[in-house]
Amino acid sequence: NAGLAETDPDLAAAIAQELARQQDGIELIASENIVSRAVLEAQGSVLTNKYAEGYPGKRYYGGCAAVDIAEQLAIDRAKQLFGCEFANVQPHSGAQANQGVFLALLQPGDTILGMSLAAGGHLTHGAAPNQSGKWFNAVQYGVRREDGTLDYEELESLARAHKPRMIIAGGSAYPRVIDFARIRRAADEVGAYFMVDMAHFAGLVAAEIFPSPLPHAHVVTTTTHKTLRGPRGGMILSNDPELGKKINSAIFPGLQGGPLMHVIAAKAVAFGEALRPEFRAYQKALAENAKVLAATLVEGGLDIVTGGTDSHLMLVDLRPKNVTGKAAEASLERAHMTANKNAIPFDPAKPAVTSGIRLGTPAATTRGFGAEEFRMVGRFIVEVLDGLAASNDGANSAVEQAVGAKVQELCAKFPIYR
Ligand code: PLP
Repeated sequence: NAGLAETDPDLAAAIAQELARQQDGIELIASENIVSRAVLEAQGSVLTNKYAEGYPGKRYYGGCAAVDIAEQLAIDRAKQLFGCEFANVQPHSGAQANQGVFLALLQPGDTILGMSLAAGGHLTHGAAPNQSGKWFNAVQYGVRREDGTLDYEELESLARAHKPRMIIAGGSAYPRVIDFARIRRAADEVGAYFMVDMAHFAGLVAAEIFPSPLPHAHVVTTTTHKTLRGPRGGMILSNDPELGKKINSAIFPGLQGGPLMHVIAAKAVAFGEALRPEFRAYQKALAENAKVLAATLVEGGLDIVTGGTDSHLMLVDLRPKNVTGKAAEASLERAHMTANKNAIPFDPAKPAVTSGIRLGTPAATTRGFGAEEFRMVGRFIVEVLDGLAASNDGANSAVEQAVGAKVQELCAKFPIYR
C-alpha cells in the first residue's frame, strides 16, 4: 500500500515535474484547462477497477450498482447542462465520439463534408491521414481568403455538388461563432446528417454565451476536457432518441469495450460544476480575456486571423514579426508560456513550421487571471516575439529569461494545486 513516490520514484518525479510546469508557467494551449481537485479525485478513484460493459441498468458484468449511479449522474447532468434528450458519456476521447457517430450513421465510402485541417478543422473531420479521410470520401470546405471566416458559400456549393451523407461543423482553430441554422439548411437540401463537433466551445454553449448547436444538428459531439473543464474524454448528444439508440450501439459494442468508469465519474463531477452559476461567470471571463489578449497582441504589431475572436481562442498570424510558429512556440516555452504552433489559413510555411500560433484563455482564466493579467500576458508574448525577431541566430535567451521571471512572479500570485 505504499505510495507512488516510494514504489515508483521515476514516475513520481515525472508527475512532480509536470505539476511544477503547470504551477510555474502560463498555459495558453486553447484545448487545455485546469480541473478541480474534485475532478482529479473522482478520476483517481477505485472506479478504475470496474468493468461495466453496457449501459446503466443493462450491464454485462455484476457489481455495477455504484458505477451505474455515477454514469446516470453524468448522463442526467449532461442532458440538463445542454438541454437535450440524449447523452452518451462513454467515448474515451473526442476522436472516438466522432468515430462513434460515423459508425452509427455512415457506411465506408460515404461522402462527408467537413472543414479542412488547414482552415482550422479537426483531423477527424475528413483529413487525409485520419481514418475519417481514409474510409470515407472526404470533401473539405475552408475559410474565405479575404477575412478568414467560414466560407458558407463554398460549403453550400460543395454540398450541392457532392451530396454528402454528413456535413460536419466545428473545429480546433476557428475563433468565430458558426451559423448552425445556415449549415442545417444546406444539409436538409441534400438530405445529409448535420453533426456539430463543439469540442472547443462546449463550455461557452453550456454557459449560453455561444449559441447551442443542439436545435440545429442531428448530433453533437464534444470533448469534456477543454472549455468544459472536465477529465480528458468525449461525449455525444442529440435530441433524437432514435439516433440515440444507434449511437449507443455504435459506442458499445460497436467501437469500445468497457467504459472508463473513473473518467465517467469525473465527467459527472465536472458537469455538476458546470451547472453552477460560477461556471457561467468563468466562461464570461474567459471570453472577455480572449478579447483583451487579442487586442493587446494587435497593439503589439501582430495580426489575428479574422481580426479577433468570439470565443476562448485566437489564431495569431506571426508574419508581421517575421518569425515562424515553430520558433515562437519554442521561445515562449523557454519563457514559461506554453502555446502551440498552428497553421494559419493559406499558410505559406510547412505544417511542421507554420506562420502562426494558437492561443487560448481557459486554463489561465481558471487560475484567476482577469483582463489586467491578460494584458500583461499579451505584452510578455510581444516582448518574446520581438526578442526573437531581433536575434539573428534564433536564440533569444536574455529576453526569454527576463520575461520568464516576470511570468513566474505572476503565476506565484495565482497558485494552483497548493
Ligand atoms: N474535435 C475537435 C474539434 C478537437 O479540437 C479535438 C481535439 O483537439 C478532438 C475532436 C479530439 O479530441 P481527443 O483529443 O480527445 O480525441
